[in-house]
Amino acid sequence: MLELLFLLLPVAAGYGWIMGRNSVRQAQRKQSSILSRHYYKGLNFLLSDQPDKAVDTLIKMINLNNDTVETHIAMGNFFRHRGEIDRAIKVHQNLVSREEIQGTQQETALKELGRDYMQAGFLERAENAYLQLLNSDKYYLVAQQQLFSIYQTTKEWNRAIELAERMVDCHGDSDDVSERLAHFYCEQADIEIKADRSGEALILLQKAVNADEHAVRPWLMLGHIALKQQRYDDAIGYFVQVAEHDLNWFSEAVPSLEVIAEKTGDWTRFEEALSSHWQDCATSYLAMVDIKIAQGRTQEASDYLLEQIRKRPTMKGFKTLMGLYIDQIEDEVSANSLRLLKALVEDQIKQRPKYRCVSCGFSGRKLYWLCPSCKKWNVVKPIKGLDGE
Ligand SMILES: [Zn+2]
Repeated sequence: MLELLFLLLPVAAGYGWIMGRNSVRQAQRKQSSILSRHYYKGLNFLLSDQPDKAVDTLIKMINLNNDTVETHIAMGNFFRHRGEIDRAIKVHQNLVSREEIQGTQQETALKELGRDYMQAGFLERAENAYLQLLNSDKYYLVAQQQLFSIYQTTKEWNRAIELAERMVDCHGDSDDVSERLAHFYCEQADIEIKADRSGEALILLQKAVNADEHAVRPWLMLGHIALKQQRYDDAIGYFVQVAEHDLNWFSEAVPSLEVIAEKTGDWTRFEEALSSHWQDCATSYLAMVDIKIAQGRTQEASDYLLEQIRKRPTMKGFKTLMGLYIDQIEDEVSANSLRLLKALVEDQIKQRPKYRCVSCGFSGRKLYWLCPSCKKWNVVKPIKGLDGE
């Protein structure tokens, strides 16, 4: 009899296992049915153009199943794409505030909430969201980019510098962050210069030089400060550094070098500064023409200019050459015709943009270190070719 009972034990265990499994399946089916009901209800509200009811219905589902988090994030994004930012914020905010949602899911919801706030123009709230994401392994780069974008818009250069330095400390040096950091120091230095605090500006510009070894802007700014303070030797040294770092920008330094030559009368030093780079831009070869004229070598100046224009034709070059010919022509009628032509070319030059963004094509006559169109640093450059340098 006892043996029979022992034989029945596996049967009882099997029965218990099957019943247990059925009960779990039943619970799952019940949950799934409630879930589907909420889904269909929510979907129905969406399709019948009642998005607020859809949001409320779908938010209820969170209590039932954490797997729906991805759907909620997508739903919030959907509202944002449709321009319904308040609904997007409601959905993403709900996810972020739930204690049961943790880890990457919570970070993803926070990232999307930040984008909602950015799109709505709530920069302070977006900043708070992204600051929390700086510790995330997955999203710190997104957070960093967005925070830079916020500080650039609000011109909070101190905060931008703090963030860039923190990023360099935590994640090492990168070209993008170093380049930005140098510009942030320059922006801060610009404020100090305008407030007549050149001592503070010089410290910031030295930091900019240290932050980005390729930076040109701090050298130009250092040169202008030195020129204003009549430290001409220092100014020449700084302006020469511009050419050493990026020849594209030498045309910005040449007019200041020429001013120094006029003030000091030291044209030989100016010629030395130009000597290595005089063929690299129109401003540079036209400065060489000015040097020859200042030394009374007018014929040599016009021959030299003609030769340069053949190699590197520019509107600026033509205008200067016409000016030289007008002085040499004795026939008044021909001189007047040339004057008229020169005036027309001058008008054209004044209307042409001086700088162009190599990233988005934005162009204008004002120099922007941060492109106002594509919001990138260091992409606006002096225009080369016939219209420019
Ligand atoms: Zn641009």
